[in-house]
Amino acid sequence: MARSFVGEARRRVGPKRQRIGPIVERLTAAHPDARIALRFRNDLELLVSVMLSAQTTDVNVNRVTERLFEKYRRPEDYLAVPPEELERDVYATGFFRQKTKALRGTMQRLIEDHDGRVPRRLDELVRLPGVARKTANVVAAELGEPQGIVVDTHVRRLSQRLGLTREEDPVKIERDLQRLVPREHWGLFPHLLIWHGRRVCTARAPRCEDCVLRDLCPSSRV
Ligand code: SF4
Repeated sequence: MARSFVGEARRRVGPKRQRIGPIVERLTAAHPDARIALRFRNDLELLVSVMLSAQTTDVNVNRVTERLFEKYRRPEDYLAVPPEELERDVYATGFFRQKTKALRGTMQRLIEDHDGRVPRRLDELVRLPGVARKTANVVAAELGEPQGIVVDTHVRRLSQRLGLTREEDPVKIERDLQRLVPREHWGLFPHLLIWHGRRVCTARAPRCEDCVLRDLCPSSRV
């Protein structure tokens, strides 16, 4: 799209501060089931699932964790087996060596610094070995205490298409979204964009004609 068309489209839909409310409202109505797709029963399983989900699908992680969580129930269990055994148990999620190393390091830290429990603060979560900001954000949000906004590939694409950010870098996109999205929606907002991104605003062929945001979106083709 030429620059003048982009400017015109942005003017047509109005300022993002006025659009963000209706965007959240309409997406919530359109995707009432929008939530994390990983399966877990407690804080530790949540943390492990999110760590394993790097570079693979949630469906794949759920397949692996179904058996994994029967065998490993406490942080100590991950350290009680030889690393090769844990590597085999998480093999199907890919990058199994790095993930095993991260899991073992994290379990060690949980035992030493947190009485075996998963911390809730973002600054503590990102200090766990192999836990990046995105992972920490997902975990904190699911624990009911979002302290940032998760930016994955869908969140990035939709934020840009919706004219909520002009940035490319996930950290800068997150900063823009934090300024814009009311804090009470920080946990839900990424799920709404992820589900909308999977179902309607796909990377290759956005279905603008079926989109509830088409009058609020500067990238709409209809
Ligand atoms: S109108 Fe089109 S580009 Fe905009 S959010 Fe909807 S599907 Fe995506």
